[in-house]
Amino acid sequence: MSSLDRKLSRFAATLWHLLHSFRFRLALMFVAILALVLAGFSAFIYTRQVQINHAEEVSQLVSQSAQLVAYYEAQMASFESEREGRSASVPQSKLPLLPDNTLLAMIGLDGKAVLQQGPLQPDILSALVMKWQDSPDTLQPLSYTAPGQGKAAGTAYLFMVSPLQVEGRGVGFLLLANPTDPGSQLPRLAVSLTLGSLLIVLLAFGGGYWLANRALQPVQTIVHTAQRISESDLSRRLNLHRNDELGELADTFDQMLDRLQAAFERQRQFTADASHELRSPLAIIELESNRLLERKRTPEEYEKVLHLIQSENEWMSRLVNELLLLARMDAGQIALRSERVDLSEVIVDVTERLTPLAQARGVTLKTGELGECYAQAERIYLTQLLTNLVENALKYTHREDGLVLVESVRQVKDGQPWSLMRITDNGPGIPEEHLPHIFNRFYRLDLARARAEEGAAELVSSSGLGLAIAQSIAQVYGGKIEVHSQEGKGSTFTVWLPAARQV
Ligand code: ADP
Repeated sequence: MSSLDRKLSRFAATLWHLLHSFRFRLALMFVAILALVLAGFSAFIYTRQVQINHAEEVSQLVSQSAQLVAYYEAQMASFESEREGRSASVPQSKLPLLPDNTLLAMIGLDGKAVLQQGPLQPDILSALVMKWQDSPDTLQPLSYTAPGQGKAAGTAYLFMVSPLQVEGRGVGFLLLANPTDPGSQLPRLAVSLTLGSLLIVLLAFGGGYWLANRALQPVQTIVHTAQRISESDLSRRLNLHRNDELGELADTFDQMLDRLQAAFERQRQFTADASHELRSPLAIIELESNRLLERKRTPEEYEKVLHLIQSENEWMSRLVNELLLLARMDAGQIALRSERVDLSEVIVDVTERLTPLAQARGVTLKTGELGECYAQAERIYLTQLLTNLVENALKYTHREDGLVLVESVRQVKDGQPWSLMRITDNGPGIPEEHLPHIFNRFYRLDLARARAEEGAAELVSSSGLGLAIAQSIAQVYGGKIEVHSQEGKGSTFTVWLPAARQV
């Protein structure tokens, strides 16, 4: 492809882009409307001018005609007395001086022209007389356009024929004709209107395009920024700071980017945390097995390392299961099946199952008020939710008179019935600054403490996912978990679930 071809194709692409651009179409629409308005306006002006001219010409013709009739009748009356019994006639010398383009003719009673003045060609004169004779309203001004070729072809006349009388006796007729629009005023007006309108339309197109371009500038900014934003660079913002519709659009776009960035950040953090959590047990297994394989060991040593590998494996299995559950909840896969679940039954189940753990930790686990509470959910997930909360209460309550109380109550809030599960412990409580974060994934208050406690009660893991999972389950079923905690006094976790209808 030669450089000329390349330039041509680039030019064609730019032109195509321009012609299909919104600003071009906007300017075009604006100009089309303006052209219509101008055409209507010009047509109105032109017709008004035609009407005004016609009215002026008619009144001029009528008054000229009346004056000439009076003049000729007077002339003829004196002349008649001299030549008794002859047809209407006036000596040529007695004809009045008329404007250049005014045509005058005197027609005898037999319809033949007797006298004429002005540049009136004989064929036009006879055509005028014929038209007058054919016309039903012979005393009104009539219009006539000369046909054919020749000098007068196409000239339009306004003419009028008035009867001439001498002593009450008709002696002939006076024909007076004026060419209409002698100064070609109307064609000039039409040309001026057309040229003026075209000029205005051209200027308006230029101005309209410029305005549309200016008005759509922010859209260009939005487009360019959006093109630059990629998954890895979500930090860019439009920051248009305008108080109009485009500003609103840009703000909405920025807010959407905020949310997207936060979601990507959460996702990234989650993946990083998950791999970090899995890395240490994998490292432990690798180190221990390498160490073991360095030389021959006693069966006790093998057994010890195998136990370690088993416990790390259990930890990883649990973590992977928890991650899987969270992923499934994120994908909205667990709310599909739901049944009417009796919360008291779930509480009894969980407390019975966790009693040995409570005993091992020297904590009293008991149920309180067990009201008739039902929720629409899947039992297995509610069991998991409650297990996480009770396990936490048992895990973190390590005092001699440790007590964990689980109860269920019905409550009406904002006119809506709720089924509540409440887990109260008299453990260490959670410092206020941590409360907003404890439901975040992998959030642990005190990693060292959690690990130490985990060592003491091997059944309980501390991944930092327990509360996140519980909260997600509650949210999947339209509920939430609230926490009230006082440092040194204990914590209360309340699970709110929309109450299922009684049957
Ligand atoms: P973990 O697996 O570490 O228990 P969770 O998501 O279940 O993770 O809990 C997050 C953090 O909240 C815990 O590390 C713990 O410090 C705090 N926490 C949760 N429940 C209680 C409770 N009943 N009493 C005191 N602290 C708690």
